[in-house]
Amino acid sequence: MCRPVYGQWRAIRFESTKKNGEKPENNEVSTPNSHEVSSFKVKLTTSASAPAPMDGNSAVQHLMKKNNKPYIPRTSHERLSYEYPGLPNVDDFNVKTNKPKVVSRWSRYIPKILTAIVFAWGAYTVKVWFFPPEDGEDSKELLAPHQFHPFIITHKQQIDDDHYLVELMPKFKHWQYSYYAHYDQKSIWNGDRIWSVDVMHPQIMVVRAYTPLPLYFMKSEYTRSGEKEPLLRVVNNDGDDYDKGGVMCLYVKKYGDGEVSRYITSKEVGDELKLRGPNVEYKFPYHPIKKLHERPIFRDLPSKVEPETGLEKLYRRNKLPPFDNMNFYAAGTGIAPILQVLLSKNPYRGFVDLHYSAQKPGEIKPLERFLFFLEKLDRVKVHHHYDSDKKTVLSNKDFTKPVPSEYLSPLRIEQTESNLSEEDALKLRLLILKDEETTPKELTEDSTTERGPRYENALEQARETSKIPKKGASLSIVCGPDGYVSYVAGDKLAATNEQGPIGGKLGEKNWDNTNTFKL
Ligand SMILES: Cc1cc2nc3c(=O)[nH]c(=O)nc-3n(C[C@H](O)[C@H](O)[C@H](O)COP(=O)(O)OP(=O)(O)OC[C@H]3O[C@@H](n4cnc5c(N)ncnc54)[C@H](O)[C@@H]3O)c2cc1C
Repeated sequence: MCRPVYGQWRAIRFESTKKNGEKPENNEVSTPNSHEVSSFKVKLTTSASAPAPMDGNSAVQHLMKKNNKPYIPRTSHERLSYEYPGLPNVDDFNVKTNKPKVVSRWSRYIPKILTAIVFAWGAYTVKVWFFPPEDGEDSKELLAPHQFHPFIITHKQQIDDDHYLVELMPKFKHWQYSYYAHYDQKSIWNGDRIWSVDVMHPQIMVVRAYTPLPLYFMKSEYTRSGEKEPLLRVVNNDGDDYDKGGVMCLYVKKYGDGEVSRYITSKEVGDELKLRGPNVEYKFPYHPIKKLHERPIFRDLPSKVEPETGLEKLYRRNKLPPFDNMNFYAAGTGIAPILQVLLSKNPYRGFVDLHYSAQKPGEIKPLERFLFFLEKLDRVKVHHHYDSDKKTVLSNKDFTKPVPSEYLSPLRIEQTESNLSEEDALKLRLLILKDEETTPKELTEDSTTERGPRYENALEQARETSKIPKKGASLSIVCGPDGYVSYVAGDKLAATNEQGPIGGKLGEKNWDNTNTFKL
């Protein structure tokens, strides 16, 4: 069977529409040749419905004709140029009066700058009117005693079933502006006092006191990836890093039915806690040496702690009595206050006999390193008492008789002496004022002519001082659960939060309210 080519099909189809079923005589396709096209004539009369007849010279026929005119190139050309007429208003007068605008860089940007200012002002107005600042957002203080400031949990370490270390960072940074300028007065870490913060449980509006520690967890890429545990370090304030951005740690014990302790320990990293403070729980007695000398701050490496060179000489030259030593009785989380004092700037200057009682070893595992270093620096002696080891529990031998205080400040005399004459009381008041305002000029500062032993660091110095026997304590502080405080120093008056008389084991050894404090 032979198939027709495309043209053939067309022709066949064309023919088929002509007559019903009539096939063309042959399947040859006639293609119009060029001769037929050029000799095409428009029929003047076609049908009744055709347009009006055209004469022989009509436009279409004329256009179909070939141009037989020969091409003769010209030898010379006449060039013509056209001047555009001047624009309206561009004459000599208008050019002089309507000078064109000078577009400088500033004139181009000023509208944009003005628009930006208007937008910023608008946004600020909306913020101020419709979104008032959160508590503490614009505060000049890291902590305020009458306002709760938000803190973010930045790390949480579970020590055992009930004990946690919780690292907190302030949510807002506005306080830092005023802090940097007056750092010495504003720093919260001052070992001259024991202070706490109130932590709020916002759902039930219950508040409990907790003792912040100047500690933070040093993080790195290894700790973030989980390869290593972050290292617990002391806030040292080296360089410009004042108080490490307000970081602090809480050592918290979770009680099974404890409202706030359960609330704190149930929080995760990134959650918020509201803190109020600082609440000064106890201020250490005044001593004039504080005006002349500051004890070097504790550091993570004891070899980095500066020695107290020339201290003996200072005492001698000013005929000052030595600083009092202290007994600190702590149970459980009650160890936090003495750690706060010893790890802060301006730590306690006397020697501390620390009696630490706990249910079992390991409750303060991450903090043991610091106590060990403090012992090496000859600042502390730690006595451990564990319920799980009956041989170690607190007993009579752990309570000594009080040694009379070497220095009684006028304030302490006033507090202890109740039967003073009016004249003596007035003299004492003046002395209190004078004592607190004693300028270093009245006391003699270090003299370079008198040479004493020089030490490389505090560790080297401690090797020498630890050989000297320690004087007994003149001050006792007790901190722990109510039952413990009652056993050591007698009941605290819970209703009024007053000290109450000194009883218990310390009472038996003749300690009294002038030299004992229950936290
Ligand atoms: C100045 C100060 C500083 C403090 N510092 C810290 C600190 O650094 N870390 C810390 O964990 N706690 C500290 N506390 C204790 C803390 O304030 C809470 O009392 C404790 O966390 C329990 O509160 P809660 O709301 O969880 O328990 P609550 O709901 O008050 O009590 C639940 C149960 O626990 C018992 N309970 C409450 N407190 C104690 C306690 N201290 N010892 C034994 N049983 C108790 C109650 O009798 C009750 O049966 C400090 C207290 C004071 C006054």
